Amino acid sequence: MQIYADNAATTALSPKVLEAMTPYLTEVFGNPSSLYRIGAKAKDAVEAARAEIAELIGAKNANEIYFTSGGSEADNWAIKGVCKMLKLKGKNHIITTRFEHHAVLHVCEGLAKEGFEVTYLDVYENGIVKPEDVKSAIKDTTALVTVMYANNEIGTIQPIAEIGRICREAGVLFHTDAVQAMGNVPINVEEECIDLLSLTGHKFHGPKGCGALYVRRGVRIANLIDGGAQERSKRAGTENVAGIVGLAKALELAVSTMDERRERLTKMRNRLIDGLLNIEKSRLNGDRDSRLPGNVNMCFEGIEGESLLLKLDLAGVSASSGSACTSGSLDPSHVLLSLGLPHEIAHGSLRLSFSDDNTEEEIDYLLKVIPETVSYLRSFSPLWDKIKSE
Ligand SMILES: *Cc1c(COP(=O)(O)O)cnc(C)c1O
Repeated sequence: MQIYADNAATTALSPKVLEAMTPYLTEVFGNPSSLYRIGAKAKDAVEAARAEIAELIGAKNANEIYFTSGGSEADNWAIKGVCKMLKLKGKNHIITTRFEHHAVLHVCEGLAKEGFEVTYLDVYENGIVKPEDVKSAIKDTTALVTVMYANNEIGTIQPIAEIGRICREAGVLFHTDAVQAMGNVPINVEEECIDLLSLTGHKFHGPKGCGALYVRRGVRIANLIDGGAQERSKRAGTENVAGIVGLAKALELAVSTMDERRERLTKMRNRLIDGLLNIEKSRLNGDRDSRLPGNVNMCFEGIEGESLLLKLDLAGVSASSGSACTSGSLDPSHVLLSLGLPHEIAHGSLRLSFSDDNTEEEIDYLLKVIPETVSYLRSFSPLWDKIKSE
């Protein structure tokens, strides 16, 4: 059996999305900035996609959507772009959390080197930010609060509407990296008082290399790329027309099937969690309920996450030990450490993330193969012998 259980890293392109994109990779190849019909057709497709995405996230205006090359670019642009403008007004403080994606954390670290002060909020043992912590961290110099919508490793969903309201009342801009949540939980930028939001297509069966940044009208943000007049002159460069069409199509499909998928995946996920918790010295990382429907993240004491992944790969299972960007390094995940887990436990973690393509039969197989593999690895682990004898 071959099981793809790493949908938090990326998802398979939906055949319907590919079908929507294909004309824009073939006959409709014109440059959207040109005046003849084949260009105008491409331009129309880009603008239709912009309007559709705006509507799907509850934005008031299509021109609040800027297309980017993905989530990392949107995060970089949101944070650097806002901070550059507000620094001129004497605002040099950023509030974020300890467990953001590196596309946020590394940007904050860079800004710290330029003189910004960064407050990293605790996410506690359940992996959830407390809105009152945001409130007490805000001060006169705060330029931006950036808190992810749902965490990419442990899947915990944050109280975004509450944080948004606190920021709005305090007159502070609020950005959320909604890359993992988009298409999986209902999101409305107006109702949730979100000023800037990042999303990317390849996490919901769209193409890689195409995402968007929502910037609420009236928010001043520095240009990302100077050049032509594309994206209201803020992000120059000929548009990735097929990617943009695919992004909108994928989001439309994800949102229209969300309720059904949420119900099905939550059931599957809970069955897997309950089964895996029967393994001795195992634990679920992150809150069980405020959690993305398709996310399972477990620790098994006494084994290395990397060896577990290699064994599972041989058994046909593609999974992850956390962030795709950090695997390959032997440092334990900053997300698991932010929950207060000791290094040796944070090493033995396994993330399984599911999509519409996964089945109950696959869960049956995982419930057989994971316990077997954990026992096998523990059978020659000196660490496990020590844990057992304690
Ligand atoms: C995947 C991911 C990103 C990066 O998106 P790319 O499109 O790969 O640049 C950013 N933030 C989160 C939470 C992610 O899961």
